[in-house]
Order: sequence, then structure tokens, then C-alpha cells
Amino acid sequence: MKGKVIIISAPSGAGKTSIIREILNSGLNLEFSVSACSRPKRKGEVNGKDYWFLSPDDFKHKIEKDEFLEWEEVYKDHYYGTLKSEIQRIWDKGKHVLVEADVYGGMNIKSHFPERSLSLFIMPPSIEALKTRLIKRSTDNPENIKTRVEKAKEEISLAKKFDAVVVNDTLSKAIRDTQHAIRSFLQQGD
Ligand code: 5GP
Repeated sequence: MKGKVIIISAPSGAGKTSIIREILNSGLNLEFSVSACSRPKRKGEVNGKDYWFLSPDDFKHKIEKDEFLEWEEVYKDHYYGTLKSEIQRIWDKGKHVLVEADVYGGMNIKSHFPERSLSLFIMPPSIEALKTRLIKRSTDNPENIKTRVEKAKEEISLAKKFDAVVVNDTLSKAIRDTQHAIRSFLQQGD
């Protein structure tokens, strides 16, 4: 089996975490690639499970050592990146990789594996809905929410560059649509 890569990008608050959780439990032989990041850990997050939490200096050191397939300074001083070692580790286990990245990271990964990857964009039903979700989640202060909403508008304008767009209006339907797109892609050329 040749390992494939499923890329999921979504603006912050579009519901991607819930969708990813379900996808990983769908029996699709997928494993989550744990990204590295330099933002502080949120309550409930686990190092090595949600992210590899690094200091900005440690993150920059890994950039110098060429350990990333891609990386972005998604927000000021908040670096995020996909580790080459994660992709290889998962392929070596005979599994397909599920990567979560911002829109630029997602497009970048797609360019590394044009045939072997499927890029999916999770679209919030509206900017208002996204704002409400971010406020309800209460993991970000008002200033951060403003930044995330601004970034979301920019990201939504790039959705058309993805292989497929899933609108997260009803979560259960968004999960089904995502599962369907991934299953079809993984069956191709098997
Ligand atoms: P959060 O701080 O809400 O977990 O994530 C913030 C943003 O960073 C999201 O848009 C998320 O998709 C993105 N992100 C997470 N992991 C990666 C990665 O490995 N690479 C890139 N480029 N972005 C990432």
C-alpha cells in the first residue's frame, strides 16, 4: 500500500476538531499527524497528542534543521508546522496520514504530494456563526477572536483552491460528507 495524505484546513472555529475526531474513529486506516506549534497549551490539550508544544526558539531550531514539510507563522509568534518525521512514522505503520493545517499550509502540503493527497476545506456556514462559536468556546480573548475572524475571511477566499469544500452547517452532515470524500479518495488506485 502506498500511503496517502488527507489534508484538512478550516478557519479557527469552523468545527474542524469535532470533524477530525469523528473521522479518526471511522475505521479509515488514518492516523493524525501531530503538528508542532509554539503557542501556549490550552486547558485540556496534551503535548504529543494535540500538538508538540515547543518554545518559539525550539521551533526555529527545527526550521533550521529542515525538519518541517511546511511551517507558517499563523499568528504573531505562533508558529505551526507539519513535521516530516510524523508523515514518515505513519506511512511506515502502513496507514494514511491526516494532517490539519491552515489554508497556506494545506496548499503547501498539497503541492508536495499532488496525486497522493486530498485537500479538504471545512467552511463555516457564515462569518457570524464562526464568531459565535469562537465566543462560546471561550478559549480566546476578544482581541484573539478579532484576529481569528479576520484570518477566517482571508482563508475562506482561498477555499476554491482545495480539492473539495465541506460546509459545516449541520455537524453530522459535515462528518458524513467528509467521510464520503475521504473514503472515495482512499479507494482510488488501491
Ligand atoms: P489552533 O491554535 O486553533 O489550534 O490553530 C490555529 C491554526 O493553525 C489553525 O488554522 C490550524 O489549522 C493551524 N495549524 C495547525 N497545525 C498546523 C500545521 O501543522 N501547519 C500549518 N501551516 N498550520 C497549522
